[in-house]
Amino acid sequence: MRLILLGAPGSGKGTQATMLQEKLSIPHISTGDIFRSNIKSGTELGKLAKSYIDKGQLVPDSVTIDIVKDRLLQDDCKNGFILDGFPRTIPQAEYLEDALKNMGIALDVALNIHVEDSEIIKRMSGRRVCPGCGMTYHLIYNPPKENGVCDGCKSGVIQREDDKEETVLSRLKVYHQQTEPLIEFYKAKGKLVTVEGQDKVEDTSKEVLKALGKA
Ligand code: AMP
Repeated sequence: MRLILLGAPGSGKGTQATMLQEKLSIPHISTGDIFRSNIKSGTELGKLAKSYIDKGQLVPDSVTIDIVKDRLLQDDCKNGFILDGFPRTIPQAEYLEDALKNMGIALDVALNIHVEDSEIIKRMSGRRVCPGCGMTYHLIYNPPKENGVCDGCKSGVIQREDDKEETVLSRLKVYHQQTEPLIEFYKAKGKLVTVEGQDKVEDTSKEVLKALGKA
């Protein structure tokens, strides 16, 4: 299955993509994760991406598209993929259409996870990540067993710079301006499926699997 996940930052795309990766045995490709791993290892791409990410802005299309182009050509994408956080703009979506056409394949579904802004703000301000292994937590909904310490690798958990409230507000603004129009883009192509992502993770997962016909 060739799938893209749409939804505001903090709507749970990453969580659902991780679930789907296991269930469908296809790779989960997150442009945000690719940028973060480049930031961690101090590459030129990482430095460039950080200057946008920390302000809550999008990394320029040309840079982002190049990364996805290389990734989709790798062998493990032959049987499908889950794109999480790409496309985020109309030019990125148009590029993806062209690239898949050139590869002789097409997208199956654009899965949109809907969550209200007020819930997003609540979720993101409590989100914590482990810089060691990438595991994510929430201070209220999913705290680590020991306060501030990752259950898995025992590193101290931190708040992502771009999860701080001021940055979350600009990310939401960018989402509504630049990414939300993709909902109409994929609806017009008959590829859009929307699920409610407002409730518990397990409920959203059930809805996602039902929507994809994999329940
Ligand atoms: P995410 O983890 O998907 O929320 O991504 C974190 C940040 O990486 C975003 O707020 C953007 O600054 C950047 N980013 C990720 N994917 C894209 C994309 N497709 N286009 C532009 N910027 C992106």
